[in-house]
Amino acid sequence: MLKFNGTSVFGGIAIGSLCIFQKKENKVERRQIEDAAQEVQRFEKAKETGISQLKELYDKALKDVGEAEAMIFEVHQMMMDDGDYVDSICNMITEEHVNAEYAVSQVRNRFAAMFEAMDDDYMRGRAADIRDISQRLIEILSGTQQAMDMFQEPVVIVAQDLAPSETVQFEKDKLLAIVTREGSANSHTAILARTMDIPALIQTDIELKPEYNGKKVIVDGFTGTVYVDPDAETLKVMEEKLAKCQEEKQLLQQLKGKEDVTADGRKIKLYANIGNPKDVESVLQNDARGIGLFRSEFLYLESSNFPTEEEQFQAYKTVAEKMEGKKVIIRTLDIGADKTVDYFGLEQEENPAMGYRAIRICLTQPEIFKTQLRALYRASAYGEIAIMFPMITSVEEVREIKGIVEEVKEELEKQEIPFKEVELGIMIETPAAAMVSDDLAKEVDFFSIGTNDLTQYTLAIDRQNAKLGHFYQPHHKAILRMIEMVVKNAHAAGIWAGICGELGADLELTETFVKMGVDELSVSPSMVLKVRKNIREAKAES
Ligand code: PEP
Ligand code: MG
Repeated sequence: MLKFNGTSVFGGIAIGSLCIFQKKENKVERRQIEDAAQEVQRFEKAKETGISQLKELYDKALKDVGEAEAMIFEVHQMMMDDGDYVDSICNMITEEHVNAEYAVSQVRNRFAAMFEAMDDDYMRGRAADIRDISQRLIEILSGTQQAMDMFQEPVVIVAQDLAPSETVQFEKDKLLAIVTREGSANSHTAILARTMDIPALIQTDIELKPEYNGKKVIVDGFTGTVYVDPDAETLKVMEEKLAKCQEEKQLLQQLKGKEDVTADGRKIKLYANIGNPKDVESVLQNDARGIGLFRSEFLYLESSNFPTEEEQFQAYKTVAEKMEGKKVIIRTLDIGADKTVDYFGLEQEENPAMGYRAIRICLTQPEIFKTQLRALYRASAYGEIAIMFPMITSVEEVREIKGIVEEVKEELEKQEIPFKEVELGIMIETPAAAMVSDDLAKEVDFFSIGTNDLTQYTLAIDRQNAKLGHFYQPHHKAILRMIEMVVKNAHAAGIWAGICGELGADLELTETFVKMGVDELSVSPSMVLKVRKNIREAKAES
């Protein structure tokens, strides 16, 4: 048995197979090959594998998410088998005697550039698809396709580090736990683990040895320990711990259906945070009374190109309908910093967390913003949607946003597309917004405090930087005073204020927040019942 230690960012016990996650290598080497005919055959075989994988993905998506989302895999199958594309690759292998991976990468560049130069928006969008199918072929050819696909059973992923765009690609029903060698407690990957309700460890001293793949592994998310090839005694102790954990979860179930009201009668809105329409299942299972933060950028992270208005509309409508009239607060695109995707073409920045991100992208590229706003307003007709805007620093930004919102509404009216009036709120996640929250409160319907970013900007601590972990003090007085001030300013203007950052689920602070007058707490679905227990035991007046 091997034992490794890390820092836990979410508790729980997982027992399963270990799967090493290797980062995708984008650099393809050019090699001279002797036998071109054999290389063409190797390519043809990879193509067959690729097409059958895409068929499987199509069937799975059709079952899980419906025809509209599954379509893309059918399109990819056709593209991978397209005569021009395939001939160009085979000709290059035959004429230049180069390896198939290299030929695919060169043809990919040529075809993607050709699509990108077209006038038609739809055709331009195909450039990303060409990249996507070519990447699949290169990975099959070079044997670097993710190991997770090799396992039928659920796995524990062990990685150097994981970007949110990588984490969202994992099949959730096959993921038991996440263990990384790097990582920070406030990263979006940690947040995703909490949403999925699986143990997660960061800063773990486990090596990424390929021979660990497929070995039995136990992750103890309470102590931050990983056991590879556990001995019988450890396995028995851990199985008992797992059973106890499940029992405790079971006990919490008794709080389902109970009101979110303090011992002295103050009602609190207890909502949940999600990143994907599929997360609604766990919101409902855990009996949250609404969704306080739908991180819409995850729709963009999961896609290989800008999600269209229709795709977004379907996603928002699905969530609104499934929540059956309960509040669904959707945050507009918060891309940038650690959440990046290639197709946005974002440049490398010195300080991405303080850079071109979130509302700054939306205000400088209003066509992206308007597409999302149109989808949101269209979906408003199907439930109780509210919209909130991230990374606000000034009243001027809010006024500019409201101007764009009005334009979108006028357009929809002209086109006779039905929509409802929705609450418009902002995230308070910069010290600037907190300091001018008295003025901001006069402009919007609600505030939602994003303590993850508010903490990083107030304490000048990069939330992604693992070395700063022990300087990251979420209970710092500066943060708590700001929260109190923001709530006071909200109430003075007659609007409500909640917390949707991770601090909202900090069980040590539930009573403090209630006493401050916080109206709403929005937490990971897995934390809802624990927070409910604390709310019901807390006193609002001391
Ligand atoms: C926050 O900053 O607290 C927040 C909720 O947003 P995110 O974690 O997505 O940046
Ligand atoms: Mg934030």
